[in-house]
Amino acid sequence: MPRVLLPLCMSLLVEEESVTPMDRSWQPVALCRGNHSHLFFPPTTSERKDERERRELRAKAVCRVCPVQNDCLEYAMESTEQYGIWGGFTETERRQLPAAIRRRIPAAV
Ligand code: SF4
Repeated sequence: MPRVLLPLCMSLLVEEESVTPMDRSWQPVALCRGNHSHLFFPPTTSERKDERERRELRAKAVCRVCPVQNDCLEYAMESTEQYGIWGGFTETERRQLPAAIRRRIPAAV
C-alpha cells in the first residue's frame, strides 16, 4: 500500500477482537482524504529538515480547518498512533502533550 494513503488507511487495519472498536464515524469528512494525504506522513525517500517543516506546516493548515480535528486527535491518542500528523500534531508533539490533556482521553485497553 503506498504510504501516501495514510493516515486513514492505517485506521482501516483490522483490530484485534479483544480491543473495543474505536469510533471512526468522523473519518468520512476528514480533510486529509484524497489529494492532501501526502502531507501527513514523510515520503518514502529522504526528506530534508526544511522540506519536512514545510510539509508539516501545510498539513497543520489543513488540520486547522478540518471539522473533525478534535475527534482525530482523540483517536490518535487513544490508538497511540506512532507516525504522522493527526489532529494537527506531529508524533513528537503528541508525545509531549501535557499529561492533563492525555488523562482526559481514555487509554486504549
Ligand atoms: S485533523 Fe488533520 S489529520 Fe485529522 S482528519 Fe482532519 S485533516 Fe486529517
